[in-house]
Amino acid sequence: MQLIWMRSDLRVHDNTALSAACEQGPTLAVWLVSAQQWRSHDDAPCKIDFWLRNLAALGKHLATLNIPLLVREANTWDQAPDVLLQICREHRVQALHLNEEYGVNESRRDHAVSEALKQAGIAVHCHLDQLLFKPGSILTRTGGYFQVFSQFRKACYERLYLSLPSLQRPIAPQAMLAVVSDEIPSQVPGFELPPASLRDLWPAGETEAHARLQRFIDEAIDDYQQQRDFPAAAGTSQLSPYLAAGVISPRQCLHRALARNYGEFDSGNSGLVTWINELLWREFYKHILVGYPRVSRNRAFRQETEALRWRHAPEDLKAWQEGRTGFPIIDAAMRQLLATGWMHNRLRMIVAMFLTKNLLIDWREGERFFMRHLIDGDLAANNGGWQWSASTGTDAVPYFRIFNPVSQSRRSDSQGSFIKAWLPELAEFDEKNIHNPVPSAELFVTNGYPPPIVDLGSSRQRALNAFKNLSTRQVEESPLE
Ligand code: FAD
Repeated sequence: MQLIWMRSDLRVHDNTALSAACEQGPTLAVWLVSAQQWRSHDDAPCKIDFWLRNLAALGKHLATLNIPLLVREANTWDQAPDVLLQICREHRVQALHLNEEYGVNESRRDHAVSEALKQAGIAVHCHLDQLLFKPGSILTRTGGYFQVFSQFRKACYERLYLSLPSLQRPIAPQAMLAVVSDEIPSQVPGFELPPASLRDLWPAGETEAHARLQRFIDEAIDDYQQQRDFPAAAGTSQLSPYLAAGVISPRQCLHRALARNYGEFDSGNSGLVTWINELLWREFYKHILVGYPRVSRNRAFRQETEALRWRHAPEDLKAWQEGRTGFPIIDAAMRQLLATGWMHNRLRMIVAMFLTKNLLIDWREGERFFMRHLIDGDLAANNGGWQWSASTGTDAVPYFRIFNPVSQSRRSDSQGSFIKAWLPELAEFDEKNIHNPVPSAELFVTNGYPPPIVDLGSSRQRALNAFKNLSTRQVEESPLE
């Protein structure tokens, strides 16, 4: 018997470990419920709900192939080796198959499972699946991990020209096994169910993921380069929750995009090329996670920025979290996050920059809050995005390039339609005034919208000083560098 341990690869099609297991012989699947571990990773309740809904769809799909799906509990990952060993003994499993996951805790868990199973004479096969390229396989000439995205991308292109990662063949149904599938839980204690309005935005299952991809390719990808910066437009794929949970694979996305672009990665349709670049950003941050494990341990990529004097400002943090900063674009974006579990990429950058620069609050606070609310929460992309915005990361925005949220708002939501959709209290403002929170007191009195919590000019200067001091201190402290 073969066992596939499903994690962030909740699909049947183009699933490397599943295909490998089925090729070897009769296969059984397992999923572990790890509530305490998930809580310690700040996984959002809407994300857990999305996993469970996709798991239910996956269970049905696996049943058509006669592959039973077991659901077992390993509250923390240190229990995973025992739980899996028990299943292996019960069902005389000869080999465990899994798709690699990245991150310090994930690697430690998989190493412990491999050791325990190998000692019991059970083979363990780890497969590359979540990414196009195995971390460690795209390196600089001197053998290091790339720290600059454009160079990483160039190396990826060179590899893609040599050979395109191929899709797995469809799996044929196996003979019925005398193993009964477990019931899929509809909820895990400690993670409340999201409202139906949120769930309806993100239907579960591979069919939905592929329909989204097709719709995006048919209707939006040609204009992606222009439209992707406008949050009021449906200009991006909204596939991130499906990619993060592995309901669709990056290979499937790449193949479908290339088919539309006559096989070109870096020329031809500019919308397609830009979108493929985004898939490579996803790739880049996961490689960074493996190459520089400190980012997975809550540390800054640029170590000198650990000395930054962030403000302890719980009231400001709370206002940001609740969408009450008095800056309409920030507040509308945060309300979108709270209501939908998702936020547009341009807005993620604007709100992250505002928190870390104008409010000078530690990026880790923002990273954690995002993780606790995002349906697509992904350690590598979230950490990468936060450290980019905070200028603490690899290939990050220079610290002196601070976004002005009002001009960003004018540029990305010129008509104010995104703002109005999330802040109905500003419905009567015209496109000129809606971006600008002044005259603040008047606004507060008339419609309950709060005055700005910070002055943009002086807070910008405060951030510049903090970063400038940091570089002077660094030079003083490390005269040899
Ligand atoms: P599209 O524009 O259609 O892009 C296609 C896919 O490419 C996305 O689904 C995603 O998988 C990947 N992608 C796109 N942009 C990026 C990027 N900058 N970095 C890494 N991958 C990218 N993305 C997450 O998936 N999970 C997160 O937790 C996450 N946190 C973020 C936090 C911050 C502060 C910032 C600035 C960005 C974050 N991103 C995160 C990246 C990006 O915002 C989302 O991937 C994107 O908004 C998802 O929308 P989409 O599927 O419509 O993307």
